[in-house]
Amino acid sequence: MGGKRPLGVGLLSGGLDSILAFRILQEQDIELLAVSFTTPFFEATRAIKAAEMLGVPIIVLDITEEYLEMLKAPKYGYGSQMNPCIDCHALMFRKAGRIMEEKGGDFLFSGEVLDERPFSQRRWALKAVEKLSGYEGYILRPLSAKLLPETIPEKEGKVDRERLLDLRGRSRKRQMELAERFGIKEYPSPAGGCRLTEPGFATRLKDLMENEEVLRVRDIELLKVGRHFRLAHGAKAIVGRNRFENEKLLNMVDRAQDVLIRVVGHKGPLTLVPRGVTVSKDRLLTAARICVRYSDAPKDGPVKVALNLPGSVEYVEARAASEEELDELRVAHKEG
Ligand code: SF4
Repeated sequence: MGGKRPLGVGLLSGGLDSILAFRILQEQDIELLAVSFTTPFFEATRAIKAAEMLGVPIIVLDITEEYLEMLKAPKYGYGSQMNPCIDCHALMFRKAGRIMEEKGGDFLFSGEVLDERPFSQRRWALKAVEKLSGYEGYILRPLSAKLLPETIPEKEGKVDRERLLDLRGRSRKRQMELAERFGIKEYPSPAGGCRLTEPGFATRLKDLMENEEVLRVRDIELLKVGRHFRLAHGAKAIVGRNRFENEKLLNMVDRAQDVLIRVVGHKGPLTLVPRGVTVSKDRLLTAARICVRYSDAPKDGPVKVALNLPGSVEYVEARAASEEELDELRVAHKEG
């Protein structure tokens, strides 16, 4: 009577496509295990929720270190922003593949749909992901399987190809119908969840990568807070936009290296210069002037500003930066 059930290890992002891929396979006699990942750019929260809904176990891996290494020079480049989707998928499958091997699993799968995304889901891209991951032939895409070459688990009869789908293209109509059929009511929008696809964040990240020799996790976390100004190669100023962000900056400060700037005697933002101890006095003065600009201090004359250096405080007189100066230094996404 029935031997061991095949085991499929699937990438679960928590988006509808990935949920559907699991649901489709749940209709067959297959054991499923979900894998999801965290980096400074995306989390596994939605995936954990989805796994619970699907009733499948989930393993969450923090892949930050390898991810940052890959992000510097992805073999297949970036999508419309800083999203290296092909290399990203390949890395995820490589990680999931290790788990598959450890658990004695039979195949990998994901919710990718042929031609749904212009960059990463073309036929050649799906093939490239397989090759780069090191698991060629073992990656099943249940939603488009009938349009793709037969995989090893299908050939071995572990997965019934006839019960897989032939979805293709950008229309979400059939996914919606399937969601209805499976009673899936809650799922996030398809684009959400990855900061690398957000134009504003991508612009800041690009600036960071062009101006820092080393890509540090804290610098990436700082990209999520405040207004950013590029003072010089290796030097930037980050200005809190509200009390919440000021507190956040305060919590992220590295007291041994950073310089924190505040206007004295007037309400205003915190301005953080990461690794400010290595930044020239001139640049710190520019940061002080930006800080004055966003404070309640009068803009028609110099005001007193405190530069909190590691172990000491220096006071300087600074005038508010002009709009032109701000425009020139601001790290911001420009439309069009
Ligand atoms: S959108 Fe982000 S998480 Fe998704 S494949 Fe692309 S880079 Fe990876």
